[in-house]
Amino acid sequence: MKKRNFVNLNINPCKMCMPMGAAIALRGIENSMMMLHGSQGCNAYLRTHLTTHFSEPMDIASSSLHENATIHGGGGNLKKGLKNLIQLYRPTFIGVATTCLAETIGEDVVRIVKEFKAENDIGQVSVIATNTPGYGGTLYEGYFRTLRDVARHVARETPRHERINVVMAHVSPGDVRNIKAMLRAFGLDAVVFPDISATFDAPFSREFHRIPKGGTPHADIAAMAGARATLEIGATIPDQISPGKYLEDQFGVPLSRCPIPIGLANCDAFMRALARLAGRPVPTEFHEDRGRLLDGMIDMHKVSGEIRALVYGDPDLVSAVASLCAENGIAPAVLSTGAESPLFRALMRELLKESYEASIVLDDTDFETIEHHALRSGVNLAIGNSAGKQLTEKHGIPPVRIGFPINDRYGGQRLVYTGYAGSLKLLDDVVNARLAKKFGMHRVVMRERYHRPDDASGRDRAGDGPIAAGGPIADPVRAS
Ligand code: SF4
Repeated sequence: MKKRNFVNLNINPCKMCMPMGAAIALRGIENSMMMLHGSQGCNAYLRTHLTTHFSEPMDIASSSLHENATIHGGGGNLKKGLKNLIQLYRPTFIGVATTCLAETIGEDVVRIVKEFKAENDIGQVSVIATNTPGYGGTLYEGYFRTLRDVARHVARETPRHERINVVMAHVSPGDVRNIKAMLRAFGLDAVVFPDISATFDAPFSREFHRIPKGGTPHADIAAMAGARATLEIGATIPDQISPGKYLEDQFGVPLSRCPIPIGLANCDAFMRALARLAGRPVPTEFHEDRGRLLDGMIDMHKVSGEIRALVYGDPDLVSAVASLCAENGIAPAVLSTGAESPLFRALMRELLKESYEASIVLDDTDFETIEHHALRSGVNLAIGNSAGKQLTEKHGIPPVRIGFPINDRYGGQRLVYTGYAGSLKLLDDVVNARLAKKFGMHRVVMRERYHRPDDASGRDRAGDGPIAAGGPIADPVRAS
């Protein structure tokens, strides 16, 4: 039997299911809708997390499988649902994603979609099917597998052109905007795939659009086959689910990858990649941002060195944040992801081999196991999404929110932690979370430790000023 990284059973898995990744990827395509082939509960789960994280309405159609369809097959439901979806929303693109139930009963969605197209005149609407059983992987695999399937169905043999493809890691809409600005600064004409910068974080408008404006245009995806290069952002993307690898194998578009630009080393690598693709030096503004990051790293090093961090989330994001930690003297004590990823393990071992050999690296894991290792490793700060809140609340570990889902704070969709300036902001947030924890109760603790009620001077021994009359301060809440 396969060895998995659980202390006991899989308790509170450190992941979201594959269709969630499909939903995020599809939202980054212009005028597209998702049809989830499964029960309505799956839709509720996806929409709850997506709306609370992005603070945007999120419509996902459902084939609404019930007992009958589960036994006799859900093809009829799916076809009826697709017809309704086209009539109501008028999308130009539909991604049909499967669920645990659809896969378990052996639904052949590719065949059903083919039949649907043959039986109905759907004009210019593209409908593609992707297999995303919830139990088959995580949000991470669902995201990239969907992108690969979209590229597979939409990209067409095109004469070579000067544009490049940029396959976006699963980062916040704020980070997508930031990376697009960096591409512009280098003068690069790029197809950003997918582009959730506006669809998941739209400006206020009095007009309601059933499908939000924005996303990668269909024609741009079709032309990705003729691009002069593809840059994939993400250091642990397996070839089997990589859209860039598909474009390289099928159409000869050269592929290069770089980590999410978080941290000095990763940002340098990203700048080198953009400079090479643009054929020009790094613009001055980035040199200045880099200098500010270095300055901040020096300013904060005394506090950084006290931090023992737990980092969890998607493998690409965890590996990028781990790099920022390591280069700042923040011990990456526990690095964990719910995805099964040999690439992540290898990359982390390489990163940690110099100074942090004792760090724990876990893939395919759950929060019970993470908690076990975090406590044994003396973790004093956690960097990750809201799914770790039980752990951090229970043990009083200060959290810094990054990734998805963030549904116990506002602004997850606006976070910008990429680039030199974004990395500095992340470092500020990490160090300040440590300081807030360390000094939040500092005076109270000092008074409790050093105050002697019979001290004739009327001052406590920590020199903090006059003490309250009436003996030692027992209640830290009142005392503050
Ligand atoms: S894990 Fe399976 S059943 Fe649960 S929401 Fe995901 S697809 Fe649906």
